[in-house]
Amino acid sequence: MKLTYKFNNDEKNLEINKEEYLAPENIIVYIREGDTVYVKNGDYVYINQLIKEASNGIKSYATVSGTVEMNEEEGIIKVVNDKTNSAFVSEEALDDISEVKKEVILEMCENLGIDYENKLIVNKLKNKSKVLIINAIDVEPYQFNNNYLFQDNVTGLLETTNLLAKRFNIDAHLILSKYDDNNVAAVREIIAKYNDINFKVIPDVFPYTTNQCIARKYFNAYKYDDILFLDTFALYKIYMALKEGLPVADRYITICFGEATKVYVVKTKYGANLGELIKNSLSESIENKDIYLNNFMRRVKCDNLESLVVSDNTKTIFIFDKQDIKASKCIKCGKCVDICPVEINPLAKVLDSACIRCGLCSYVCPANINLLSKEK
Ligand code: SF4
Ligand code: SF4
Repeated sequence: MKLTYKFNNDEKNLEINKEEYLAPENIIVYIREGDTVYVKNGDYVYINQLIKEASNGIKSYATVSGTVEMNEEEGIIKVVNDKTNSAFVSEEALDDISEVKKEVILEMCENLGIDYENKLIVNKLKNKSKVLIINAIDVEPYQFNNNYLFQDNVTGLLETTNLLAKRFNIDAHLILSKYDDNNVAAVREIIAKYNDINFKVIPDVFPYTTNQCIARKYFNAYKYDDILFLDTFALYKIYMALKEGLPVADRYITICFGEATKVYVVKTKYGANLGELIKNSLSESIENKDIYLNNFMRRVKCDNLESLVVSDNTKTIFIFDKQDIKASKCIKCGKCVDICPVEINPLAKVLDSACIRCGLCSYVCPANINLLSKEK
């Protein structure tokens, strides 16, 4: 399936290939220090079965059904997919989530371990954040994951936002960008039903779509810590917890060849191996390529894609032809300083804590200096 997007100020349409990789041969869950593991070698697990819990409360579930192969020395739990898609179904499923009580929302989020580090969502909801911002934009350039997940679940996501606003008595804002034109049109059609949501469409200029920039530009009446930001994925996890009583097994990721010469959005399973995903679902070779994770401007290079699995941190894989880029001496042109959106000095030995790690300074540097690295 192919879809096209027309960017603002851009003459050409970008063609996006939509793919699925929902039956990987196996999925991997890594064991870290302090984790509690709930399975052992040879166990049979169902989709949605709890596999382990980290000390910060974040839980990992099986996203395929099959037999567990443990390698405790390497800290790996592998589930070999039997491809029967045998799944646990919850008795908590609801037809209508609009009546769900505040305590149940918190309980479901805690029980399913849906959260970031240190239970950020639950704590911010409990501690009465002053504003809830659903940033449904794919912040990084050439990333379309939030966009597609939003498209699949517009009504459910609006219902969940409205419910959070009502139950926690919090100002809720939904932010989309102009290029999400399908989603903007879909929201405009039904937003009148959701009185508790303020809807805003902003320009799609990176990095002004990051949480930090949105807070500075549109919500400067609030302290940053008083804002609860949720992206589409976090909101969707809450929606699924309330609606189905289940964790989320699937995730969209974007795979981009070059600077968007060929773009794939792949729906896959948490825990799927990224090297196999590209080889098996896209039939593309990654030999002799430079691979960057999530934002090519930050230059986070990945030398071994086969060792990585899909997680909440997997957003975009950029695959470029190999280039031998060598840094040279700074010519003091000042381009990095001029472009910094938060007006700090990217040349400083230690970057100011206001840095949003957008990578623009490194991207514009004619001397190819990686200004985000400590060696500069
Ligand atoms: S220092 Fe570089 S990475 Fe940090 S905000 Fe400025 S331009 Fe972006
Ligand atoms: S852009 Fe590069 S060359 Fe120019 S001042 Fe910054 S670090 Fe130096």
